[in-house]
Amino acid sequence: MTDDQQLSLFNSESDSTPNPQQKDRIPTDANIPIPPQTYASLEELIPHCQSCERCGLSESRTHAVIGRGNPHADIMIIGEGPGRQEDEQGLPFVGRSGQLLEKILASVKLDTQNDIYIANVVKCRPPDNRTPLAPEVKACKPYLLEQIRLIDPKIILFTGATALKTLTGEKKAISKVRGQWLEWNQLLCMAIFHPAYLLRNPSREKGSPKWLMWQDIQAVRDKLDELRSV
Ligand code: SF4
Repeated sequence: MTDDQQLSLFNSESDSTPNPQQKDRIPTDANIPIPPQTYASLEELIPHCQSCERCGLSESRTHAVIGRGNPHADIMIIGEGPGRQEDEQGLPFVGRSGQLLEKILASVKLDTQNDIYIANVVKCRPPDNRTPLAPEVKACKPYLLEQIRLIDPKIILFTGATALKTLTGEKKAISKVRGQWLEWNQLLCMAIFHPAYLLRNPSREKGSPKWLMWQDIQAVRDKLDELRSV
């Protein structure tokens, strides 16, 4: 046996990858783990999310909302969960919030078709747009981790406290941590205001949420240019 073959015996990732029968049961059995490397592509992951019953949010969804944008994007934006329009259309960040997000990105020459992939912590809409419950987040988080692994972005932006807390464990309010670079799993990340919050706070005065967002998105653009130039 070669050294490589011997070393592979200690490879915990391949040990924990579900066998084909287990993999088929992922959407219907929350007890089947979804370890890293479960999916070879987003195309494999998508039908599992679309038929998923791993948490109670499946009962009231119209569509699972998995993601949109460039699957090879340098920036990934992660929100909390789908709202009513997202649930109806099966796409994240549509409606007024989505339109504002597109404008914010366009202000620094970023667009969702080329530079961005958008996803949520939970793929199915929580009733009445409530915050997803801990068991729902726990059930759905492995899909998101697989999306991040497959997309392999240079930068992650968290829109809202649920996304920030789910991935980094940071519990501070977005207003306290926005605009600050942090490292998570060797990825550069930043929390930014949710566009829905900006819609409720339309002032552009210096120091207002919209003004702060303008500072943050310029910092993101600068950092992306820096990373792309390396
Ligand atoms: S929210 Fe996630 S875990 Fe729950 S049913 Fe939808 S896809 Fe499955």
